[in-house]
This record gives sequence, C-alpha cells and structure tokens, in this order.
Amino acid sequence: MNDYQLYIDSEFCESSDGGRFDTVNPATGEVWASAPAATEADVDRAVRAARRALVEGEWPTLTATQRGRLLSRLADLVADAAHHLGEVETTDSGKLAAETRAQSAYVADYYRYYAGLADKIQGDTLPIDKPDLHVFTTREPVGVVAAIVPWNAEMFLTATKIGPALAAGNTVVIKASEEAPAPLLEFARVVDQVGFPPGVVNLVTGFGEPCGRALTSHPMVDKVAFTGGVDTARHVVANTAHNLAPVTLELGGKSPILVFDDADFDGAVNGAVAGNFGASGQSCVAGSRVFVQSGVHERFVDEVVRRAEAIRIGDPLADDTQMGPLATRAQRDRIEAVVAESVDQGATLHTGGCRPEGLDAGWYYRPTVLGCADQDVRSTRVELFGPVMSVLRFDTEDEAVALANDTEFGLGAGIFTRDVSRVHRVARAIRSGIVWVNTYRAISPIAPFGGFGNSGSGREAGVDAIHEFTTTKTVWINTSTEPMSNPFTIR
Ligand code: NDP
Repeated sequence: MNDYQLYIDSEFCESSDGGRFDTVNPATGEVWASAPAATEADVDRAVRAARRALVEGEWPTLTATQRGRLLSRLADLVADAAHHLGEVETTDSGKLAAETRAQSAYVADYYRYYAGLADKIQGDTLPIDKPDLHVFTTREPVGVVAAIVPWNAEMFLTATKIGPALAAGNTVVIKASEEAPAPLLEFARVVDQVGFPPGVVNLVTGFGEPCGRALTSHPMVDKVAFTGGVDTARHVVANTAHNLAPVTLELGGKSPILVFDDADFDGAVNGAVAGNFGASGQSCVAGSRVFVQSGVHERFVDEVVRRAEAIRIGDPLADDTQMGPLATRAQRDRIEAVVAESVDQGATLHTGGCRPEGLDAGWYYRPTVLGCADQDVRSTRVELFGPVMSVLRFDTEDEAVALANDTEFGLGAGIFTRDVSRVHRVARAIRSGIVWVNTYRAISPIAPFGGFGNSGSGREAGVDAIHEFTTTKTVWINTSTEPMSNPFTIR
C-alpha cells in the first residue's frame, strides 16, 4: 500500500486535517494506494507558496535560458523514470502499460520542447504613429497557474499545461484527479529532484469540492488551465467569477470519422479501431461516430466487428493485452446504461454490449459496435468515454459533412479517402480543432491541440500554448530631449 503526500512549497506533507482517500486498481477492483484529501487551507497554502515564488526569491530573477535548463533537467528525469511512471499510471487508471510507458517517455519530449522555447518568447518593437516615442512589447508570465487534470492521461495533460507555463516564467499549482492521483504524486517526487526554487511547482490531491473549487476561485490564481468534462467546466468557469482568471478549457468530444468509398480499406478500419478501442475508448479524441459511405458500409461493419471480437482484453500490465478495464465502476455502469438505451431506441448491437467472461474482478467491458440509422440514438450524442463505436451510413460528401457537424462538440475528426481535393474540402468544412487525414489520434508537442464549441477554448501544445500563459506588456519611452508637455492633451 502506497501512502502518498501532498507537495507544497517543495515539501511533502499531509493535508491540514489529516484526511485521506483510497485509490483503486481498476483491473482488480482493490485499493492499492491512498492520497491526502487537500482542504481549502492546503489549497490556500499551495497558492500562497506559488505567489511567493512568482515575485520573491530566485525564480523571477532567472533568465529565460536558465528556466529552460530546469525544464530540460525535468525532461531528462521524466525520461529516466518513464517506465516506473507508466506502470503507476496503469495500476491507478487501468490504461495499458504499453501505452502509459510510451506516453510517459513522450511526455519528456513535451518538457524538452518547452525547454527550447523558454528563451524564444519575445515581443515586438512597434512602428508607432507618433514622433519621439519608442514603443515595445514584452510577453509577461500571467502569474499563478492552476492546472486541473482528469484521470485518463494525467502525466501528459500536466505536461501540456506546466511545460509552457513554466517556460514562460509562471508558477503552478496542479490538482490531480481523485480517480487516479498516484501518477502525479510520483511525478512530484521527480519534480523535487529538479531543483526548482520552492513554490514554483506544487501538487494537491483531493475532491472537486472543496479542493478544485478552492483552487479555481482563489483570489491569487491568475490563470486556470482545465481539462475535463463539460459539466465540470461550467463549475470552473463560474468559480473564476471570483478571481476573473482567464481559463483554457480542453473538454470532451464526439468526434466523427468519415470513411469514403475510395479510402484505403484497412487503413480506415485501423483508424476506427484506434479511435474507439485504443485506451479502452477513454480518450477525449475518441472517434466515436463513424460515418461510412454506402459502397463500403456493409464490408466495413463486418470487418470492425471481426476486429473488435479479436481484441485481447485483460491485465493492462501484461505485454500482450490490447484493451484493459475502464477506470471506474461508475464509468462502466454509465456505459452499460447508454448502450442499453441506444438499443431500445433502435440501434443494432453488432457486437459487445456486455462484460467479458472470466474477468469479474475489475471494470471490464467488451468492445462494442452499434449500427445507428440516425443521430437521434443516444450513443451518437453523448460522450461515452468507453469502447463503444456507433456506425452510420451516408451517400454523399455534403451529407457526411452535415452529419459530422451535427454535434455540440468539435475536438477531433478523421477523414479517410484517396481524393486529395476532397481532403481539402472536407477538412475546411468540418468544425473541429484537429483533423486527421488517413490517420487518427496522432499528437506532438509541436502541434496545437484543442477544440471548437463544447470541446473547449484555447490551445495546448505548440507555440500557441505559450500565448495562453503570457500576457502583453507595452512599454512607451519618450526619446525626445524635451520634457513631457501639456498634460491636458493626449499625444
Ligand atoms: P471531470 O470533469 O470529472 O474532472 C476533471 C478534473 O476537474 C478532475 O481533477 C476533477 O477532480 C476536477 N473537478 C471536479 N469538480 C471540480 C470543481 N468544482 N472545480 C474544479 N475542479 C473540479 O472529468 P473526468 O476526470 O471524468 O475526465 C474525463 C473528461 O475529460 C472527459 O470529458 C474527457 O473528454 C475530458 N478530456 C479532455 C481532453 C482534452 O484535451 N480535450 C483530454 C482528456 C480528457 P476530481 O476527479 O477530484 O473530481
């Protein structure tokens, strides 16, 4: 049993009232670790530590190059610990170890990318429309950043926030998810070895209420970077009415995958399988609405069903497993209910829709393929965050685009076709933050990530993310030999 601690002001500590909560291994249903339940007082301490570090001590005196070196060291330490961090994430969230280990190693590249960007954040000199004035801008850190992450990719979603935030000179308070806090509590041990000045990086664990609320409404928080569900985002935005902190929101999705008759068939099937059954479908960019053109629809359904039934489900730590459990029992209960409701509404259950035999202990669910005549079926409307693919038929390109855009979300989209003109037409017409063509679920530190509509606002990754964590300062300098003249006229 691992009993973790909070990380505040470079010290590991208990919560102020000694409260803790257990965390469960979704593959066994058993408690394997516990974490402190941070109180409002703990959050206040963490935010004050971050505020102190922002304005006092060593951090604000470092050059951008020196900040970059610290991020580089963090990248190296994360890379060294990637195997261990991945296994902890798997044990706590049920995600495949093959994926979490690789993702932890790739997370190091995100820190490396922002280490390199730290001393390339620059302002402009403005050709101002007035004589004798020299005007330039600088990009300043926003201040104390609250970084809130969900359970499905904590290491990664933390890197996309604190990488650019630290590169730009901010300080951070991270809140891990109560569903799987352990990976970030292990990460805090890595952060502790880097040599950041005290208070630059803080980590709290606890519940949305009071911990998340206290953090996002704290008067000393200057920016909130949130990843999670739409309903929680509404609470977060309401909380920021207290501190007026700007918010970036990376929310859910109901992303479409469009398969045209002329597509490479196997590539399109692989895209749909990756988009729906990779990470047990617990991905914000899950391509959970698959629109297939009439000419290949029947063959496509047969093949995805065959592929779904061949998936090896089991222990997420085992090397030959292809799909692990869902992260929580509540997740599985909800998915079961939505699939049952969709079948009642007329969807055809091609495969799945139940728990796999012989895996009674954890929160397992079989890869499921539903055939849907239209988008009145519930499985085509709500984000399920599970291995459930809804397949729909279309005839024309215009119809496919209209169906794809008929959603409250706009995070990812996949287009499978060999027609390059169509690629450009459809990519332009689809309202989503990311479009993948003849591939799916690819990510990079270099490429901005984020959504339209209820999938959120603002962008993570890439140079764009630096803009989210900086604000412009404009400096006006009088270069004339004359003192400032008449105070009652504007120059
Ligand atoms: P939630 O919205 O339930 O939780 C997200 C985070 O917010 C958790 O840390 C949670 O804490 C915290 N939280 C809860 N209530 C509050 C509050 N009142 N104030 C502040 N913080 C609060 O999401 P899930 O954890 O269920 O994650 C799944 C969601 O995340 C899906 O919708 C998914 O699409 C989305 N997501 C989006 C991504 C993107 O980049 N667009 C990437 C990955 C996931 P606690 O767990 O303690 O309740």
